[in-house]
Amino acid sequence: MSMLTYGENITTSMMTTFERNPIFRSVAYFSMEIGISHDLPTYSGGLGILAGDILKSAADLGIPAVGVTLLYRKGYFRQELTPEGRQIEKPVEWEPDKLLVRLDNQVSIVLEGRTILVKAWGYIYNGHSGYPLPIYFLDTDIKDNSPSDRSLTWELYGGDSRYRLCQEMILGVAGLRLLRDLGYNNVKTFHLNEGHAGFISLELTRELGYEDFDKVRDEVIFTTHTPVAAGHDYFPFDLISSVVDDQNATRLRRMLGGGGVSMTDLGLKFSHYVNAVSKKHAEVSRKMFGCENVDFVTNGVHSTTWTCPGFARLYDKYIPAWRNDPSRLVQALQLPEADIWKAHQAAKMRLFARVLEETGVELDPDVLTIGFARRTATYKRADLLFSDVKRLLDVGSGRVQFIFAGKAHPHDEPAKDIIKRIIDLSKEIGSALPIVFMENYNMELAQILTAGVDIWLNTPIRPREASGTSGMKCVHNGVMNFSVLDGWWIEGWIEDVTGWSIGPEPSEVDLIEYDEMQDALDLYNKLEDKVIPTYYNDRRKWIWMMKHTIALNASYFNTHRVVKEYCEKAYGTVFRGH
Ligand SMILES: *Cc1c(COP(=O)(O)O)cnc(C)c1O
Repeated sequence: MSMLTYGENITTSMMTTFERNPIFRSVAYFSMEIGISHDLPTYSGGLGILAGDILKSAADLGIPAVGVTLLYRKGYFRQELTPEGRQIEKPVEWEPDKLLVRLDNQVSIVLEGRTILVKAWGYIYNGHSGYPLPIYFLDTDIKDNSPSDRSLTWELYGGDSRYRLCQEMILGVAGLRLLRDLGYNNVKTFHLNEGHAGFISLELTRELGYEDFDKVRDEVIFTTHTPVAAGHDYFPFDLISSVVDDQNATRLRRMLGGGGVSMTDLGLKFSHYVNAVSKKHAEVSRKMFGCENVDFVTNGVHSTTWTCPGFARLYDKYIPAWRNDPSRLVQALQLPEADIWKAHQAAKMRLFARVLEETGVELDPDVLTIGFARRTATYKRADLLFSDVKRLLDVGSGRVQFIFAGKAHPHDEPAKDIIKRIIDLSKEIGSALPIVFMENYNMELAQILTAGVDIWLNTPIRPREASGTSGMKCVHNGVMNFSVLDGWWIEGWIEDVTGWSIGPEPSEVDLIEYDEMQDALDLYNKLEDKVIPTYYNDRRKWIWMMKHTIALNASYFNTHRVVKEYCEKAYGTVFRGH
C-alpha cells in the first residue's frame, strides 16, 4: 500500500463524474496546508500532515467531506545544510499538472482594490473502499492576474503579514466562492483547521445578505492547534482597511469590534463548536482564551500511511481488517515476538541504509538508536539532550546513537542555531556517540525515521506542545516514546509499558517557576537506569513493551478515531462506516 499510487487514479473524467454530486457533501475542511504525500509539497509540518491524515480517514470511512487549501507552486522549502551546519532554503520544484487536475471554474476576490481571479486544481483521494474525497488547491497564478497577484499563492508561510492576510482572504473567501461555483450548496459544517480559514464566517455573512451570526455559527466549527503566540495571526485594522474591501472591512468591525482582527477570535466567536487537540491543550486553551467552551479531540495519524511495510504485513496476517479499523490493533498483544523483532530490524536496516547513502555515516544496527525529528522551533528544545555533554557521554558512549532531522522556519535564526549546534556536536563527539542530522525532513523521511529508530525522543517546553503527532507515527511501528509529559503523551503514557516519561507529572507543578534543567537531569537518569538496561539486558521486556505500545497507543491515536469523534461531537452527521 504505497502513497505514491494515489495520484495515478486521478483523471479528468473522474473529476467530472465526481462533480455531478457535490450536493451530497456535508463537511468542508479548510486548512492553510494539507499534506497528502511528500511529492505534493503543500505542507510544512504537523498541521498540514494532520489535515491530510484526517481527510484520508474520512475517505476510508465514507464521510461526505471535501478539503480546501492553497496550491503553493514553490512549496514550503527544500532544506540543504552547508558543511558548517547552516541551513539553506531552496525552492521546491514540482509540477502541479502531473499530480492534479486543473479545473475550469474561476471565482474572483477584491484585495487592495484590485479584482483577483482565483482558479483551482483538484485531487481525488480514494479511500479503502473506493470512496472518493476531493481536495481543492486554490491558485492565483493565472495569466490574467498581475505578476504580484500571481505570486500570492506561491509560498507557504512566506512573505509579510500583508501577504499572509491576502492568502487567508483567498482561503476563506475565495475558497468558499469556489465551492459554491462547483455546486457545493449543501455543506452543513465548515471545519476551520486552525484560525487561518476564519474569513469563511465573513463570506457566509455576505452570502446571507443580512447579519445573523447565529446562523453563521451553526455552520462553522473551529479547531485550535497551538498555545504558542506566533501561531495566532493578528491583523491590525489599518492593514485590514488597506487590503480588504470597504464592505467586508466594515463587516469585520461589527463582528469583532475595532481592535483589529485576531483569526483565533474570529474562530472562537463564530463557531458553534471549538476544540483543542489534546486534553491538556484544552485546559491550556480555556485559560488562554478565557473561554470555558473548549472541548478536545486528541489528534491521531492515518494508520496505513504511517505503518511501515514489515509491520503492515504482520498486522495483515494476524489482525485482519486493521486497515480500516485500526482500533483492532489492541490485538497486537498476540503478535509473535520473533516476528515483531524481525519487522523492526528490517525497518532499522532500511533507515541505516538511507543514513549511509546520504551522510556517509555507518550506524550499527545492534546499538540503541534514538530519533528526534520535528520542526526545529526553539520551544521543541532539540538541544536539551546536550545540556550536559559530559554526562551524556558518560551515560551513552558506545551504547547509544542519535538521528536528528527538522527544518527551521527561514526567519527563525535561533532555531537555525540549534541545527548548527547539533551538527557541531556531531563532529566533536561523534566517534564516541554517533549523531547524524538528516537533511530535508519531509513525509517520506518521516516514514522511514519513525519506523526505523528504537526510541522516539520529545522534549518540548511544557505546556507548548498542543498534541504532537510524530510519536503516534512511531507507535504504529512498535517504536516507544521517551518524552516530556505534554500534549498527547500525557494520554498515551504508561510508565514502563508504553514508554518512559521525562520530568514531572503534569499534575505535580504549575510549571511557572519550573527549572528546565530538571528535564535534562531526568532524561540522563532514565536513559541510564531504564532505557539502556532494558534494551541491552532485557530484550523480552523490550518487545513486550513494543507490543503494548501498538495495542494501547496505535489502536487509539489514529485519525479513524479522530474522524469518528468529529462526526459525533461536531459534524452532526450520522456516522456511516463501511
Ligand atoms: C509528523 C510530522 C511532523 C509533526 O511532528 P510533531 O511531532 O507533531 O512535531 C512534522 N514534519 C513532518 C515531516 C512530519 O512527518
